[in-house]
Amino acid sequence: MHSIDKTAAARLLAALVRGELPDERGRFGPYGGCFAPEVLMPALLRLKDEVQRHLHHPDYQAELQHELRTWVGRPTPLTRAAKLGAAWGTDVWLKREDLAHTGAHKINNALGQALLAKRMGAKRVIAETGAGQHGVATAAACARVGIPATVYMGAIDVKRQAPNVDRMYQLGAKVVPVESGDQTLRAAIDEAFRDWVGDPEYAYYLLGSAVGPHPYPYLVRELQSVIGRESRAQFQETTGQLPDIAIACVGGGSNSIGLFHPFAGDAQVKLMGVEAGGRGPGLGDNSATIGRGKPGVLHGTYSLLLQDENGQVQETHSVSAGLDYPGVGPEHSLLKAIGRVDYVSATDEEALAALRECCAAEGILPALESSHALAAAKRWARDNKGRKILIGLSGRGDKDMPTLSQVFPGGGVPHHSRH
Ligand SMILES: *Cc1c(COP(=O)(O)O)cnc(C)c1O
Repeated sequence: MHSIDKTAAARLLAALVRGELPDERGRFGPYGGCFAPEVLMPALLRLKDEVQRHLHHPDYQAELQHELRTWVGRPTPLTRAAKLGAAWGTDVWLKREDLAHTGAHKINNALGQALLAKRMGAKRVIAETGAGQHGVATAAACARVGIPATVYMGAIDVKRQAPNVDRMYQLGAKVVPVESGDQTLRAAIDEAFRDWVGDPEYAYYLLGSAVGPHPYPYLVRELQSVIGRESRAQFQETTGQLPDIAIACVGGGSNSIGLFHPFAGDAQVKLMGVEAGGRGPGLGDNSATIGRGKPGVLHGTYSLLLQDENGQVQETHSVSAGLDYPGVGPEHSLLKAIGRVDYVSATDEEALAALRECCAAEGILPALESSHALAAAKRWARDNKGRKILIGLSGRGDKDMPTLSQVFPGGGVPHHSRH
C-alpha cells in the first residue's frame, strides 16, 4: 500500500474531481499506467488517440445518448425502498441498473465501446468474459452496432454458465472456450490479448471492467459515470438533497466507479465500496482485493492485487461470479490510498441474506453481486439512523437462479403443495 500524506491526498482528489486523472501516462497517482507487451503498444496508443478524438465529440455523444435512451432504456429509475428503509431505520434508495437492457450496468460500457469500435473502423470485436455477463452485453451491443464479436471464456466457466453461453450464441457472438491456464477469467483475458496481438489493426478489444492498461480504466469510468450522474440528478430532484452515502459492490470496479465518480467532489457524500468477503478471511476464500491485496501488475495495470509473498496471483472465491477477480481498477486503489472511499466486505452468507430481504421487502431480485452492497448498507444503517442511503443495484438476479436453487433448495416448490 502506498502511503500518501494529507496534503498530497487533497491535491490528488482535487485533480481527480477536475478530471485531470488519469494523467497522460494513465496514472492515478501511484497506480494505473500501461504495462502491456511491446507488440500491443501501437494498438493501445491508437486507442488512446481515438478515445481522445471521439469520446467527448458531439457526434459520438449524440449517437451514444440516443442509443442509451432508446435501446438500453436509460435513465434507469431511482426507486425508494421504503420497507427496507423502515426495517433499517434509514431512507434507502436503489439505482436500478437491473432494469437496463440485458439486466446489468455492463451494457453501458459494452455499447459505448462498440460504438467507438465502429468509428475506428474495426472489423471485429474481441472480448473476454468470466460469468458471461460481459459476454452477453458485448454480444448484444455488437449485434446492434453491426460488428461480429468473438468472446473468450474459460472452459470451466463455459460449463458453469451454460445459459449465458446460449444467450451469446443467440445474439450472434462466437464463443471460444479457453482450455489453457486456470480455464477461467484470467486465462480468458490472456487468450483475448493473444488474439488482439495477432490482429491489432482490425480487431477492437472490448474490455469489461475499469481495469487493464491505459486508456481502459479511464474509458470505462467515463462510460459508466452515467450511473452516478443520473443518480445525483434524480436524488436532488426527488429529495431536494444529496445522499449521505453512496454504496456499490466492487469486482473489477466499473459499476462502483461509475456511481462514485460524479460524487467525488461532494465532500458531504460518503462513498463505500463493498468487496466479496466470500467464505472468510483465509487465503483463497475471498475476493477482497482492496482489503487484503498488495500492489502489483496484473493485465496491464499497476493496482492492488491478491497475491502471495512470491507475487503469485491468488485463487479467489465468491458466491457471485462477477466479483470473483484477484485485481481491481487502479482508480479504486487511489481512492483507497487518499481515503475518499471506504472499502469494506460482505460475506457470501451476508449477501445471500440481503438478497432474500430485498426480494421479500421490495419485490426486486437483485444480482448476488449487488446484494453485497445491500448487506453493507444494512450494516452501516445500524449506526446511522435516519440517514439517506443510495445503493447501486448493479444488476438483476435472474442469472443467479442456478446458485440460488442450490443454496435454498425447495424454493421452487409451489406454496400450496407444502400443506
Ligand atoms: C460484473 C458485475 C459486477 C462486477 O463488476 P464491476 O466491474 O465491479 O462492476 C457487479 N454487478 C453485476 C450485476 C455484474 O454483472
